[in-house]
Amino acid sequence: MDNCIFCKIAKGEIPSVKVFEDDRVFVFEDINPILPGHTLLIPKAHAENIWEISGDDLAAIHRASKRVAEAIRSVLDPVGVAVFQLNGRGVNQVVMHYHLHLVPRMADAPALTMTDWELKPGNLDEIRRIGEKIAVALA
Ligand code: 5GP
Ligand code: ZN
Repeated sequence: MDNCIFCKIAKGEIPSVKVFEDDRVFVFEDINPILPGHTLLIPKAHAENIWEISGDDLAAIHRASKRVAEAIRSVLDPVGVAVFQLNGRGVNQVVMHYHLHLVPRMADAPALTMTDWELKPGNLDEIRRIGEKIAVALA
């Protein structure tokens, strides 16, 4: 897609620190790493978010994410790797081309605040009501 920065990165029109690619997936280092080793996986075919991406591309991204996570573990020996993905400006998606984040955290690194939410029991009626609606939509 014209004017999409990640399409341009996947085509090599904008430089990036590429770590892997195959016919569907392009993998590169984030330019503003939350922590060292912050890596992004994108489909080569433009899709904005989880609602647009094809099932085959989504499967390819997640298959590749396992390989990349294994490589990150062998190189950096992190205490954990956060895997996340944002859909929509309402949850701070900034680049509107689907991307999966892999963020390794080494033992001496600062805490990843986004993975450290407070556990507060929800309203069970509301949890059930919403869960039932989603289940019906899936049926
Ligand atoms: P989002 O909030 O959309 O999930 O995150 C977008 C990510 O893309 C950010 O972590 C940002 O640092 C990264 N990013 C944005 N532009 C570029 C770029 O030109 N090159 C690279 N390597 N990463 C980028
Ligand atoms: Zn794109």
